[in-house]
Amino acid sequence: MENHSFDVIVVGGGNAALVAALSAHESGAKVAVLEAATRQERGGNSRFAGAIFRCPHGGMEDLGPLLCESAQEVAKRCTVGPYTAEKFTEDMMNTSHGRADREQMQVVIDKGYETLVWMKEQGVQWQLTLNKFFDTKIQTGVIDLPPGGALMARHEGVGLTDDLWAAVEKTSITVFYDCPAHDLITAGSTVQGVKTRQTDFFIDFYGQVILACGGFEASPRLRRQFLGEGWDLVVVRGSRYNTGTMLEKAIAAGAQACGHWGGCHASPQDLRAPRVGDLSITDKMSRYSYPYSIMVNLEGKRFMDEGEDHFGLTYAKTGAAIGSQPQATAYQIFDQKTLHLLEPRYSTATPIQDDTLDGLALKLGINPTIFVNTVKQFNAAAPPTAVFNPFLKDGNSTGHKLDIPKSNWALPITDGPFVAYGVTCGITFTYGGIKTDTTGRVLSNEGSPMPGLWSAGEMTGGFFYHNYPGGAGLTKGAVFGRIAGQAAAQRAKSVSLL
Ligand SMILES: Cc1cc2nc3c(=O)[nH]c(=O)nc-3n(C[C@H](O)[C@H](O)[C@H](O)COP(=O)(O)OP(=O)(O)OC[C@H]3O[C@@H](n4cnc5c(N)ncnc54)[C@H](O)[C@@H]3O)c2cc1C
Repeated sequence: MENHSFDVIVVGGGNAALVAALSAHESGAKVAVLEAATRQERGGNSRFAGAIFRCPHGGMEDLGPLLCESAQEVAKRCTVGPYTAEKFTEDMMNTSHGRADREQMQVVIDKGYETLVWMKEQGVQWQLTLNKFFDTKIQTGVIDLPPGGALMARHEGVGLTDDLWAAVEKTSITVFYDCPAHDLITAGSTVQGVKTRQTDFFIDFYGQVILACGGFEASPRLRRQFLGEGWDLVVVRGSRYNTGTMLEKAIAAGAQACGHWGGCHASPQDLRAPRVGDLSITDKMSRYSYPYSIMVNLEGKRFMDEGEDHFGLTYAKTGAAIGSQPQATAYQIFDQKTLHLLEPRYSTATPIQDDTLDGLALKLGINPTIFVNTVKQFNAAAPPTAVFNPFLKDGNSTGHKLDIPKSNWALPITDGPFVAYGVTCGITFTYGGIKTDTTGRVLSNEGSPMPGLWSAGEMTGGFFYHNYPGGAGLTKGAVFGRIAGQAAAQRAKSVSLL
């Protein structure tokens, strides 16, 4: 049997893992990274991500200095207001129905911005989200970006992970690809290392262990078990490697399960999206302009409030709403008044169009009488003299005139040709995980730290429930990855002195 010994062993190859590895290395540790994927497929969900990072900041005054040189020109076309700690807290608490762990959240508030500065020092390049959400050939003039969703890594998740891997490769960190962690090596609650699985043998790695290997979103078995009926069949938006193996093994070793095990981040995806994430497409199958549409199911009926809030605060629960419709299918219906507002990502779709509502319904395979009636009822409930503002919650609401209201952006659907985009549910990541404290230490079922074990990223639970503010996942992973890296390096030093 082959054995290796390092100060710190990081399991995973996404944002949280690479930040943890760089941080442990900076703290003087001899570090190994164990990535289940091949070198070609490395990077986890982080590589598929739009790579928006949400953290409190003081507006352009704070974001400006973070931006890389090539992002400066675009910045001249944007304004960004402050995103305060209070607003971050409010968004986290509203989306989680008041359940988000306040201690963990405070760490992200306190350390979020400084972590992004540190990532820039490691080589991550930052830019604003203008071109991601707006077609700047159509949307001319200065655009006020949503403060919570204004910052992203250059070239999205691919750029983020390329920059992080490049930083890792400049160091003496040793990377093992195609090296899935299979189990923890333990003595009671103490973790001594990780057993990895090769084709016909195991390799044991000894050292302080940081688990940053994602949730269980890529396992149909665990999705069916924890999320329920139908979830085994949904589109997986990201990495096929996040199968929850080490989540189960950590829990079997005594780690405490916590958070929303029945919940996940899932969003509207094109009906033709691949069954599992494709690195040549990454996040380009997302269809997030639904606040300017009405969505109908195959029965021709609306099923959710499309205008409850900005998409960044609703998209993560909208996937589930679509997934619970017949054949997990819905259509986003636009008229000519709002088509110019579609995100650039819609260019990868094949819309279905017709001059009349009846004609559109027939092309969609929906009963025209029911569909036209749905649109008529909606139009009758839309406020007649509304001032439409796509960038602010404009209060144009159908109110209680409909069983299912549309709370903002309720413009009647009147100007043909009418255009439909077919969508289904795509899972992004799961919310349930293992419990950690504010220093990233994994806690046992009895609530004590398990010596030698840390965790970061989507493998940890307690942060997201029911829904999610866009961009919070990567920030959470980076903040706790950095903290865990420092702490594990520190323990490696103190253990070696014994
Ligand atoms: C299409 C898409 C778009 C997204 N957009 C955004 C966004 O704009 N902003 C945002 O904040 N979040 C976004 N997310 C969510 C975000 O990607 C995750 O929150 C984040 O990447 C999680 O990082 P992580 O390091 O915890 O996990 P991952 O990046 O998924 O990394 C997990 C790693 O663990 C490895 N692994 C798994 N099992 C094992 C094992 N047994 N042994 C060894 N290695 C293993 C995997 O190969 C992978 O490298 C998006 C996700 C997707 C899929």
